[in-house]
Amino acid sequence: MKHILMIATGGTIASRNTGNGLEPVISSKELLECVPEVARTCAVTAVQPFNLDSTNVCGKHWLAIAELIEENYAAYDGFVVTHGTDTMAYTAAALSYLVQNSPKPIVLTGSQKSVYTRDTDARRNLADAFFYCADDGASGVHIVFDGNVILGTRAKKTRTRSFNAFSSIDYPAVAVMREGKPFYYIEEKCTGKPRFFRALNENVFVLKMVPGIRADIFDYLEAHCDGLVIESFGAGGLPNYDNDAFFARLKAFLEKGKTAVLTTQVEREGSAMDTYAVGRKLRACGNVLEARCMTLEATVAKLMWILAFAKGEEVGRYFYEPVAHDIF
Ligand code: ASP
Repeated sequence: MKHILMIATGGTIASRNTGNGLEPVISSKELLECVPEVARTCAVTAVQPFNLDSTNVCGKHWLAIAELIEENYAAYDGFVVTHGTDTMAYTAAALSYLVQNSPKPIVLTGSQKSVYTRDTDARRNLADAFFYCADDGASGVHIVFDGNVILGTRAKKTRTRSFNAFSSIDYPAVAVMREGKPFYYIEEKCTGKPRFFRALNENVFVLKMVPGIRADIFDYLEAHCDGLVIESFGAGGLPNYDNDAFFARLKAFLEKGKTAVLTTQVEREGSAMDTYAVGRKLRACGNVLEARCMTLEATVAKLMWILAFAKGEEVGRYFYEPVAHDIF
């Protein structure tokens, strides 16, 4: 019998219609009562550090979840985190950096419909999360949703309503759940000791390029952020209108010791900054990092993790070092 710590944090799965729209008000105990079948394979203890729509979940909550896992690591065989779907991919990515190489599984799940809705996906997702967490082959950080087990650094919410809300981006789902058992496509068990981290630098901003955007946005960025993720078009580049103003402002930004990462707003296949002249020219601005095939969620979380402890050249070194298959 496996001992699992359930960390309930809110989301639709724990929501009821309060008259002001859906709000998370259902307790961890009530959630557990909806999946009595998990008692077959695991003994569950539940804690509820907060009960939030995941729109409100940010760095301090990721740190609180990681801290709960660290404090209880020796006492449990695995951890199930129930969470809103909207920012679950960010939390999964953040936990992948805050708790690295975890031999014990850390499984996030949630649902598109409240656990008390008649045609809900909540009961299946929750039961699957526990069954996966109790499996001997499980380790590391994953999202279990609609029968798929998706690596925490590879997940993205790609549908707002359908039950298959999450996709695994540029990486296969590692397993599928069938009748409460995982069938593995990728068998990989973390061994050794987990590494815990306890800090994040949240001064990271994502600049989404839109046609015609002006470089004076850097007035704000220079004053307010340490790390900038530029979500550019296609393979990647910056516009060279307005006398190369974007390139000049980015160069000045980097000269202040700040970090910039180029990524693409295209969901799959990643950036390739050297392909076009508008991208290659970024090389002359300084050390612009490139997210390549990383998800935006992993890029943002990785930068917040690295900027909490590294400076200068070191930032790039850590950024390109793969963690849980986040970058190739
Ligand atoms: N707004 C909700 C949340 O992310 C959506 C959900 O859980 O599906 O908390």
